[in-house]
Amino acid sequence: MFDRQNGIVMGLALVSVFGGDKMSGLIAGHPMTDRYAVIGNPIEQSKSPLIHTAFAQVTGQDMDYARVLGPLGEFARTVDAFRATGGRGMNVTAPFKLDAFAYATDLAPSAQMAGAVNALKFEGNKVYAENFDGVGLVRDVVHNLAFPLQGKRVLILGAGGATRGALLPMLAQGPAEVLIVNRTVAKAEELAALAHQHQSGLLPVRGVAYADVGAQSFDVVFNATSASLTGELPPLPARVFAPGCLAYELAYGKGLTPFLKLAQQAGVTRLADGVGMLAEQAAEAFAWWRGVRPDTQAVIAQLTVPLN
Ligand code: NDP
Repeated sequence: MFDRQNGIVMGLALVSVFGGDKMSGLIAGHPMTDRYAVIGNPIEQSKSPLIHTAFAQVTGQDMDYARVLGPLGEFARTVDAFRATGGRGMNVTAPFKLDAFAYATDLAPSAQMAGAVNALKFEGNKVYAENFDGVGLVRDVVHNLAFPLQGKRVLILGAGGATRGALLPMLAQGPAEVLIVNRTVAKAEELAALAHQHQSGLLPVRGVAYADVGAQSFDVVFNATSASLTGELPPLPARVFAPGCLAYELAYGKGLTPFLKLAQQAGVTRLADGVGMLAEQAAEAFAWWRGVRPDTQAVIAQLTVPLN
Protein backbone atom coordinates (compact mmCIF):
# COMPACT_ATOMS: atom_id res chain seq x y z
CA MET A 1 0.00 0.00 0.00
CA PHE A 2 1.38 3.44 -0.89
CA ASP A 3 0.32 6.64 0.76
CA ARG A 4 1.19 9.02 -2.07
CA GLN A 5 0.35 12.16 -0.19
CA ASN A 6 2.83 11.38 2.56
CA GLY A 7 5.26 9.46 0.39
CA ILE A 8 5.17 6.46 2.71
CA VAL A 9 5.97 2.91 1.72
CA MET A 10 3.95 0.46 3.78
CA GLY A 11 4.87 -3.10 4.51
CA LEU A 12 6.39 -4.93 1.58
CA ALA A 13 5.08 -2.81 -1.30
CA LEU A 14 8.24 -0.79 -1.83
CA VAL A 15 7.84 2.37 -3.82
CA SER A 16 10.06 5.39 -4.20
CA VAL A 17 8.94 8.67 -2.68
CA PHE A 18 10.37 10.48 -5.65
CA GLY A 19 7.86 9.80 -8.32
CA GLY A 20 6.29 7.51 -10.80
CA ASP A 21 9.15 7.19 -13.30
CA LYS A 22 11.37 5.36 -10.91
CA MET A 23 8.45 3.37 -9.60
CA SER A 24 7.57 2.05 -13.03
CA GLY A 25 11.26 1.40 -13.69
CA LEU A 26 11.32 -0.76 -10.60
CA ILE A 27 8.20 -2.65 -11.54
CA ALA A 28 9.44 -3.25 -15.09
CA GLY A 29 12.72 -4.53 -13.65
CA HIS A 30 14.89 -1.93 -15.42
CA PRO A 31 18.21 -0.81 -13.94
CA MET A 32 17.47 1.63 -11.18
CA THR A 33 18.82 4.62 -9.43
CA ASP A 34 20.46 3.45 -6.18
CA ARG A 35 17.78 3.09 -3.55
CA TYR A 36 17.89 3.93 0.14
CA ALA A 37 15.20 4.30 2.78
CA VAL A 38 14.44 4.95 6.41
CA ILE A 39 12.43 2.30 8.23
CA GLY A 40 10.39 2.93 11.38
CA ASN A 41 6.90 2.80 12.84
CA PRO A 42 5.54 5.45 12.80
CA ILE A 43 7.58 6.94 9.97
CA GLU A 44 5.74 9.95 8.57
CA GLN A 45 7.54 12.27 11.05
CA SER A 46 11.00 11.28 9.79
CA LYS A 47 13.14 14.08 8.39
CA SER A 48 15.58 11.60 6.82
CA PRO A 49 14.09 11.72 3.27
CA LEU A 50 14.30 15.51 3.26
CA ILE A 51 17.88 15.44 4.56
CA HIS A 52 19.20 12.73 2.25
CA THR A 53 17.47 14.20 -0.79
CA ALA A 54 19.16 17.52 -0.06
CA PHE A 55 22.51 15.76 0.42
CA ALA A 56 22.09 13.87 -2.86
CA GLN A 57 21.35 17.09 -4.70
CA VAL A 58 24.33 19.03 -3.37
CA THR A 59 26.74 16.14 -3.92
CA GLY A 60 25.31 15.14 -7.32
CA GLN A 61 24.59 11.55 -6.27
CA ASP A 62 22.13 9.52 -8.33
CA MET A 63 20.02 7.94 -5.61
CA ASP A 64 16.55 8.04 -4.19
CA TYR A 65 15.40 7.76 -0.63
CA ALA A 66 12.04 6.48 0.62
CA ARG A 67 10.14 6.10 3.86
CA VAL A 68 9.29 2.53 4.83
CA LEU A 69 6.59 1.95 7.43
CA GLY A 70 7.71 -1.39 8.88
CA PRO A 71 4.90 -3.51 10.28
CA LEU A 72 5.65 -4.35 13.93
CA GLY A 73 7.28 -7.75 14.25
CA GLU A 74 8.15 -7.86 10.54
CA PHE A 75 11.42 -5.96 10.40
CA ALA A 76 13.46 -8.75 8.80
CA ARG A 77 10.80 -9.57 6.19
CA THR A 78 10.41 -5.90 5.27
CA VAL A 79 14.14 -5.32 4.93
CA ASP A 80 14.57 -8.57 2.96
CA ALA A 81 11.99 -7.28 0.50
CA PHE A 82 13.73 -3.91 0.20
CA ARG A 83 17.04 -5.61 -0.50
CA ALA A 84 15.41 -7.93 -3.05
CA THR A 85 14.32 -4.89 -5.03
CA GLY A 86 17.82 -3.44 -5.09
CA GLY A 87 17.95 -1.50 -1.83
CA ARG A 88 21.51 -0.43 -1.00
CA GLY A 89 21.10 0.92 2.52
CA MET A 90 18.70 1.99 5.24
CA ASN A 91 18.45 4.30 8.17
CA VAL A 92 16.70 2.71 11.11
CA THR A 93 14.54 4.53 13.61
CA ALA A 94 12.24 3.55 16.49
CA PRO A 95 11.21 0.89 17.27
CA PHE A 96 13.56 -1.12 15.06
CA LYS A 97 17.09 -0.26 16.26
CA LEU A 98 17.39 -3.52 18.17
CA ASP A 99 15.87 -5.54 15.31
CA ALA A 100 18.49 -4.02 13.01
CA PHE A 101 21.19 -5.05 15.50
CA ALA A 102 19.95 -8.65 15.32
CA TYR A 103 19.61 -8.53 11.51
CA ALA A 104 23.17 -7.34 10.82
CA THR A 105 25.96 -9.69 9.78
CA ASP A 106 28.78 -7.20 10.50
CA LEU A 107 28.47 -4.83 13.46
CA ALA A 108 30.74 -1.81 13.72
CA PRO A 109 32.16 -1.10 17.23
CA SER A 110 29.82 1.91 17.50
CA ALA A 111 26.82 -0.38 17.02
CA GLN A 112 28.21 -2.99 19.40
CA MET A 113 28.69 -0.42 22.14
CA ALA A 114 25.30 1.17 21.55
CA GLY A 115 23.61 -2.23 21.39
CA ALA A 116 21.55 -0.67 18.63
CA VAL A 117 21.87 0.15 14.94
CA ASN A 118 20.76 3.26 13.08
CA ALA A 119 22.26 2.64 9.65
CA LEU A 120 22.57 -0.44 7.43
CA LYS A 121 24.52 -1.04 4.23
CA PHE A 122 23.75 -4.01 2.00
CA GLU A 123 26.50 -5.66 -0.08
CA GLY A 124 25.64 -9.12 -1.43
CA ASN A 125 24.83 -11.29 1.57
CA LYS A 126 26.52 -8.88 3.94
CA VAL A 127 24.58 -6.48 6.12
CA TYR A 128 26.95 -3.90 7.60
CA ALA A 129 25.62 -2.03 10.60
CA GLU A 130 26.61 1.25 12.22
CA ASN A 131 25.35 3.60 14.86
CA PHE A 132 26.16 7.18 13.91
CA ASP A 133 24.12 8.92 16.64
CA GLY A 134 27.09 9.35 18.97
CA VAL A 135 29.54 10.57 16.38
CA GLY A 136 26.82 12.89 15.04
CA LEU A 137 26.27 14.39 18.47
CA VAL A 138 29.96 14.92 19.11
CA ARG A 139 30.52 16.46 15.71
CA ASP A 140 27.63 18.88 16.25
CA VAL A 141 29.00 19.98 19.61
CA VAL A 142 32.67 20.17 18.73
CA HIS A 143 32.48 21.31 15.11
CA ASN A 144 29.16 23.14 14.59
CA LEU A 145 28.87 24.67 18.05
CA ALA A 146 32.65 25.09 18.38
CA PHE A 147 32.54 23.67 21.91
CA PRO A 148 35.52 21.33 22.47
CA LEU A 149 34.85 18.54 24.97
CA GLN A 150 38.47 17.99 25.86
CA GLY A 151 39.02 18.64 29.56
CA LYS A 152 35.34 19.41 30.13
CA ARG A 153 33.10 18.16 32.95
CA VAL A 154 30.17 16.46 31.20
CA LEU A 155 26.80 15.53 32.66
CA ILE A 156 24.50 13.24 30.66
CA LEU A 157 20.88 12.80 31.71
CA GLY A 158 19.48 9.44 30.64
CA ALA A 159 21.00 6.03 29.98
CA GLY A 160 18.99 4.86 26.98
CA GLY A 161 20.06 4.18 23.41
CA ALA A 162 21.22 7.71 22.65
CA THR A 163 23.57 7.79 25.64
CA ARG A 164 24.88 4.32 24.85
CA GLY A 165 25.72 5.49 21.34
CA ALA A 166 27.26 8.77 22.48
CA LEU A 167 29.49 7.49 25.23
CA LEU A 168 32.54 6.20 23.36
CA PRO A 169 32.71 9.05 20.81
CA MET A 170 32.42 11.46 23.73
CA LEU A 171 35.14 9.77 25.76
CA ALA A 172 37.37 9.84 22.69
CA GLN A 173 37.31 13.64 22.98
CA GLY A 174 39.13 13.46 26.32
CA PRO A 175 36.67 15.05 28.76
CA ALA A 176 37.83 15.52 32.35
CA GLU A 177 34.78 13.67 33.62
CA VAL A 178 31.52 12.13 32.38
CA LEU A 179 28.70 11.62 34.86
CA ILE A 180 25.66 9.66 33.66
CA VAL A 181 22.55 10.18 35.75
CA ASN A 182 19.44 8.10 35.24
CA ARG A 183 16.05 7.53 36.83
CA THR A 184 16.80 3.79 36.77
CA VAL A 185 20.24 4.01 38.33
CA ALA A 186 21.27 0.44 37.42
CA LYS A 187 21.24 1.40 33.73
CA ALA A 188 23.58 4.34 34.35
CA GLU A 189 25.95 2.13 36.35
CA GLU A 190 25.83 -0.57 33.69
CA LEU A 191 26.71 1.93 30.97
CA ALA A 192 29.65 3.27 32.93
CA ALA A 193 30.88 -0.30 33.46
CA LEU A 194 30.45 -1.03 29.74
CA ALA A 195 32.53 2.00 28.84
CA HIS A 196 35.28 0.72 31.12
CA GLN A 197 35.16 -2.66 29.35
CA HIS A 198 35.40 -1.12 25.89
CA GLN A 199 38.33 1.18 26.58
CA SER A 200 41.42 0.39 28.53
CA GLY A 201 42.96 2.83 30.95
CA LEU A 202 41.30 4.98 33.55
CA LEU A 203 38.06 6.38 32.23
CA PRO A 204 36.46 9.34 33.95
CA VAL A 205 32.94 7.93 33.68
CA ARG A 206 30.46 7.11 36.46
CA GLY A 207 26.75 6.34 36.69
CA VAL A 208 24.58 7.69 39.53
CA ALA A 209 21.00 8.46 40.57
CA TYR A 210 19.57 12.00 40.40
CA ALA A 211 19.70 12.19 44.18
CA ASP A 212 23.47 11.62 44.04
CA VAL A 213 24.49 14.28 41.52
CA GLY A 214 25.77 16.29 44.48
CA ALA A 215 26.80 19.93 44.54
CA GLN A 216 29.06 19.71 41.52
CA SER A 217 28.54 21.82 38.40
CA PHE A 218 29.33 20.90 34.78
CA ASP A 219 30.63 22.59 31.63
CA VAL A 220 28.12 20.79 29.42
CA VAL A 221 24.83 19.10 30.28
CA PHE A 222 23.18 16.82 27.73
CA ASN A 223 19.53 15.92 28.10
CA ALA A 224 19.49 12.45 26.55
CA THR A 225 16.26 11.46 28.26
CA SER A 226 13.02 11.20 26.34
CA ALA A 227 11.33 13.40 28.97
CA SER A 228 11.06 16.38 26.60
CA LEU A 229 9.00 14.35 24.15
CA THR A 230 6.20 14.43 26.76
CA GLY A 231 6.96 17.91 28.12
CA GLU A 232 8.54 16.53 31.31
CA LEU A 233 11.65 17.59 33.18
CA PRO A 234 14.08 15.18 34.86
CA PRO A 235 14.59 16.04 38.57
CA LEU A 236 17.69 18.14 37.99
CA PRO A 237 18.98 20.84 40.34
CA ALA A 238 19.71 24.14 38.54
CA ARG A 239 23.12 24.30 40.23
CA VAL A 240 24.53 21.71 37.80
CA PHE A 241 25.05 24.42 35.15
CA ALA A 242 28.51 25.97 35.53
CA PRO A 243 29.21 29.49 34.24
CA GLY A 244 29.70 29.33 30.44
CA CYS A 245 27.90 25.97 30.34
CA LEU A 246 26.40 24.47 27.17
CA ALA A 247 22.93 22.96 27.70
CA TYR A 248 22.19 20.50 24.90
CA GLU A 249 18.78 18.92 24.38
CA LEU A 250 19.03 15.82 22.15
CA ALA A 251 15.38 16.05 21.13
CA TYR A 252 14.83 18.42 18.22
CA GLY A 253 12.09 20.57 16.79
CA LYS A 254 10.48 21.13 20.21
CA GLY A 255 11.61 24.72 20.79
CA LEU A 256 12.44 25.65 24.38
CA THR A 257 11.87 22.35 26.22
CA PRO A 258 11.47 22.22 30.03
CA PHE A 259 15.15 21.25 30.25
CA LEU A 260 16.32 24.17 28.11
CA LYS A 261 14.01 26.49 30.05
CA LEU A 262 15.56 25.34 33.34
CA ALA A 263 19.02 26.00 31.91
CA GLN A 264 18.00 29.42 30.64
CA GLN A 265 16.51 30.36 34.01
CA ALA A 266 19.79 29.26 35.60
CA GLY A 267 21.61 31.80 33.43
CA VAL A 268 22.83 29.51 30.66
CA THR A 269 23.12 31.36 27.35
CA ARG A 270 24.50 28.52 25.21
CA LEU A 271 21.45 26.43 24.39
CA ALA A 272 21.13 23.87 21.60
CA ASP A 273 18.78 21.14 20.51
CA GLY A 274 19.48 17.95 18.56
CA VAL A 275 18.84 19.21 15.05
CA GLY A 276 22.57 19.37 14.38
CA MET A 277 23.04 15.85 15.75
CA LEU A 278 20.31 14.64 13.42
CA ALA A 279 21.95 16.26 10.39
CA GLU A 280 25.44 15.08 11.33
CA GLN A 281 24.48 11.43 11.89
CA ALA A 282 22.74 11.57 8.51
CA ALA A 283 25.86 13.00 6.89
CA GLU A 284 27.93 10.17 8.40
CA ALA A 285 25.56 7.56 6.95
CA PHE A 286 25.56 9.32 3.59
CA ALA A 287 29.37 9.36 3.49
CA TRP A 288 29.46 5.68 4.48
CA TRP A 289 27.10 4.76 1.65
CA ARG A 290 28.26 7.13 -1.07
CA GLY A 291 31.89 7.99 -0.27
CA VAL A 292 31.26 11.73 -0.15
CA ARG A 293 30.44 13.76 2.95
CA PRO A 294 27.87 16.51 2.40
CA ASP A 295 27.95 19.84 4.17
CA THR A 296 25.18 20.00 6.78
CA GLN A 297 24.69 23.73 7.30
CA ALA A 298 21.83 24.23 4.81
CA VAL A 299 19.89 21.27 6.20
CA ILE A 300 20.40 22.41 9.79
CA ALA A 301 19.20 25.90 8.88
CA GLN A 302 16.16 24.46 7.14
CA LEU A 303 15.16 22.23 10.06
CA THR A 304 15.98 24.56 12.94
CA VAL A 305 13.06 25.50 15.18
CA PRO A 306 13.88 28.61 17.23
CA LEU A 307 14.53 27.99 20.93
CA ASN A 308 12.08 30.52 22.33
P1 NDP B 1 15.41 5.62 25.22
O1 NDP B 1 13.96 5.29 25.25
O2 NDP B 1 16.38 4.59 24.83
O3 NDP B 1 15.84 6.14 26.68
C1 NDP B 1 15.06 7.08 27.34
C2 NDP B 1 15.79 7.61 28.56
O4 NDP B 1 15.02 8.69 29.11
C3 NDP B 1 15.94 6.58 29.68
O5 NDP B 1 17.19 6.78 30.31
C4 NDP B 1 14.79 6.96 30.65
O6 NDP B 1 15.05 6.63 31.98
C5 NDP B 1 14.80 8.45 30.50
N1 NDP B 1 13.52 9.11 30.84
C6 NDP B 1 12.35 9.05 30.17
N2 NDP B 1 11.43 9.83 30.74
C7 NDP B 1 12.04 10.41 31.82
C8 NDP B 1 11.60 11.33 32.81
N3 NDP B 1 10.36 11.80 32.82
N4 NDP B 1 12.49 11.73 33.75
C9 NDP B 1 13.75 11.25 33.76
N5 NDP B 1 14.23 10.37 32.82
C10 NDP B 1 13.37 9.95 31.88
O7 NDP B 1 15.53 6.91 24.30
P2 NDP B 1 16.77 7.35 23.38
O8 NDP B 1 18.01 7.24 24.18
O9 NDP B 1 16.70 6.68 22.08
O10 NDP B 1 16.42 8.90 23.10
C11 NDP B 1 16.63 9.87 24.11
C12 NDP B 1 16.39 11.26 23.54
O11 NDP B 1 17.33 11.52 22.52
C13 NDP B 1 15.00 11.46 22.91
O12 NDP B 1 14.55 12.76 23.19
C14 NDP B 1 15.28 11.34 21.42
O13 NDP B 1 14.36 12.06 20.64
C15 NDP B 1 16.68 11.95 21.35
N6 NDP B 1 17.44 11.50 20.18
C16 NDP B 1 17.85 12.45 19.29
C17 NDP B 1 18.56 12.09 18.17
C18 NDP B 1 18.98 13.15 17.21
O14 NDP B 1 19.45 12.82 16.12
N7 NDP B 1 18.88 14.43 17.57
C19 NDP B 1 18.92 10.68 17.90
C20 NDP B 1 18.50 9.76 18.93
C21 NDP B 1 17.77 10.17 20.02
P3 NDP B 1 14.77 5.13 32.53
O15 NDP B 1 15.91 4.29 32.06
O16 NDP B 1 14.73 5.27 34.00
O17 NDP B 1 13.45 4.71 31.94
